[in-house]
Amino acid sequence: MTKPEVYQPTPEERLRANGVSDELKLSGDGIFATLQGEGVSAGRPSVFLRLQNCNLHCGKEGIGWQCDAWYTWDSSSREYWQETRLASISLVADEIKNAWDENFIEEALTPNLVITGGEPLLQQKKLALLLPLLTEWTTEIETNGTILPSYDFRDSQINCSPKLASSGNALHARQRVKVLQGIATFPNYWLKFVIKEETDIAEMKQVVQIANDGDYSRVILMGEGVVASELNESLKRLHDLAQKLGCAVTARNHIYWYGDKRAT
Ligand code: SF4
Repeated sequence: MTKPEVYQPTPEERLRANGVSDELKLSGDGIFATLQGEGVSAGRPSVFLRLQNCNLHCGKEGIGWQCDAWYTWDSSSREYWQETRLASISLVADEIKNAWDENFIEEALTPNLVITGGEPLLQQKKLALLLPLLTEWTTEIETNGTILPSYDFRDSQINCSPKLASSGNALHARQRVKVLQGIATFPNYWLKFVIKEETDIAEMKQVVQIANDGDYSRVILMGEGVVASELNESLKRLHDLAQKLGCAVTARNHIYWYGDKRAT
């Protein structure tokens, strides 16, 4: 991905993006309904809540971001400053319910909320106030595995995607042993890895060992690519590795369904 030109925010944009408040800070994608594209819930009708900011930066400045949600944290982009919005917790709950009602047949399905980012656990205190407003819902929390989810989320599915060396993040930033081990105590957690390079395989095995003593029944390898042909090749490469380890493989179905588009 080509790095966009450095954007200089206006004072108003700076205030809105950095302001301290008890509201949730949403990214430009905000709240949208779609089918979950990846992981154990792939294909499930869901409402996504995409929050602003991330504590990691995947990819390399000047070369390109690997992150498909760079606009949630890249402060050199216009999108980061201009698209974010603050919203009260009750308003966010209402918008989530409305998104479900407008897109799915409510009676036929258990509504599912996927909380993503950026890194959504940066706002976990506020999320802990949101979930009690959605008691009929199942929830998934997508995290990079560097912030321990609080006890409030023990009923949620934790989709943890630890970042490896090829993500460009330093080891001390991307690998938090106590957090990984804490996540592995949650009843419904998954460790999802994007394998880009050969060296990622050794690190992935090391992380699984650290997190859950090498239990691959909780591990999913994810293909990479922003076009279908790349994704197909990646999935073929992962087949033998997954078979050997006894873990699962997932596609990124949203690439097949919608292409490389935001809010999908
Ligand atoms: S951890 Fe996730 S959201 Fe954060 S920069 Fe990496 S890919 Fe993007």
